[in-house]
Amino acid sequence: MTASVPGEFRLHRSQFIKCAPVSRELRKMTTEVLVHTGQHYDDNMSKVFFYDLEIPEPDYNLGVGSGYHGEQTGEMLKGIEDVLLKEQPDYVLVYGDTNSTLAGALTAAKLHIPVAHVEAGLRSFNRRMPEEINRVLTDHISTLLFCPTKTAVKNLAQEGITNGVHLSGDVMYDALLYNIQIAERKSTIIKQLKLRPKEYLLTTLHRAENTDRIENLNNILTAFVDLSEAGQTVVFPVHPRTRKQLDALDRKAHSNLLMIDPVSYLDMLVLEKNAKVILTDSGGVQKEAYWFQVPCVTLRDETEWVETVESGWNILVGADKKKIVEIALSSTSPATYSNYYGDGATAKRITELLQARFW
Ligand code: UDP
Repeated sequence: MTASVPGEFRLHRSQFIKCAPVSRELRKMTTEVLVHTGQHYDDNMSKVFFYDLEIPEPDYNLGVGSGYHGEQTGEMLKGIEDVLLKEQPDYVLVYGDTNSTLAGALTAAKLHIPVAHVEAGLRSFNRRMPEEINRVLTDHISTLLFCPTKTAVKNLAQEGITNGVHLSGDVMYDALLYNIQIAERKSTIIKQLKLRPKEYLLTTLHRAENTDRIENLNNILTAFVDLSEAGQTVVFPVHPRTRKQLDALDRKAHSNLLMIDPVSYLDMLVLEKNAKVILTDSGGVQKEAYWFQVPCVTLRDETEWVETVESGWNILVGADKKKIVEIALSSTSPATYSNYYGDGATAKRITELLQARFW
C-alpha cells in the first residue's frame, strides 16, 4: 500500500499534475491511499483539475489552508501522522517541493516508514526559496529518489546521496503527452479569447520572490503593459496569490493585456503550444514551453531546469523590466532540440522501481 501526498491545490497545482500519471500506474498494481493536504478540493477550479487529470478522489482531505510556513507545515504533520498511523502504508510517496512534500516525508521518516520522492535532486542553490529548503530536507530523508534529469542525480551526489537514486525522467512530460491530444480536442480557449496561434505571448507569475516583493511585481507588470503597448497580445492567467497582491497595487491596464482567471490544465497546454513566446516564473511552465518548443523567458535569476537554458530555449531575465521586454520581443527558436527529460514512460518506471523495492 502506498500513501501519496500530492499537496494543496490552490498554490500547488503542479503536484497534482505530477501525481496523476503515477497514480494511474500505481493503481494497476497496488492499493494507493491518496492524501490531499489542502482545503480547496471542493471549489470549482479544483474539481475541474481532478476531473481533467483523471485523479481519483482523495481518501483523506486534511483541510489545511493557507498560513505561515510553520503553522501550515505543523498542521500537515499532525494530520498526516494520524493517517499514517491508521493506514500503516509500506512507504510514502511525495512529489515536488511544497510544504506538503516536506510534511509527508518528515512524518513518514519519524515513523520509520520509507519515503520515495518524485522529482528528487533539483536545486536552485537559492536557500531563500521555501521550495529549496523543502527539496533539500526531503531528499536527505528519502529512501528512493526519482530524479528527472542527470543534473539532479549529480546534485544529489554532491550532497553525498547516492543510495536509492534513480534517473527516472520527468512525470510532467508523461502528463503532457497523455493530455495534449485530449486538450486539443476539448479546449476552446483559443477561440474564446479570440487568439491567433503564434501571435500572442503567454505569461504566468506566482513565485513568492516576485509576488511578495512589490518592486519585482511592479517591474514585471510594467513590462507586460509595455509589451501590450508595443502591439503584443499578452495572455496572463493570474494565480490567486498574484491576484491578491495586484489588487493592492495601483496597476496599469491595457486592452492587449488579457488578465484572466487561472485556466484548466487542458486549456493551459493548448495556450502554451500555440504561444509565440512564454514568460513565466513557474518551474512546470518552463519545461512545458521547452517540450512544445516555444521560446521561454524566465522571470527569475536562476532555474532548476538548467538544460532548458543551456540549450538556448530559455533565457533568465529576473524581474528586470527592460530585459523582459527586449528578450520577449527578440526571442527566436534555436535550431536544435533534444529531450533531456525522459521518454514519457516515467510513471511506469517509477512504479516498477517501487515494486522492486517494496512489494
Ligand atoms: N497551469 C494550469 N493553469 C494555469 C497556470 C498553470 O493548469 O492557469 C499548469 C501548468 O501547465 C503547469 C503547472 O500548472 O503544468 C505549473 O504549476 P505552477 O504554475 O503552479 O508552478 P510550479 O509549481 O511548476 O512552479
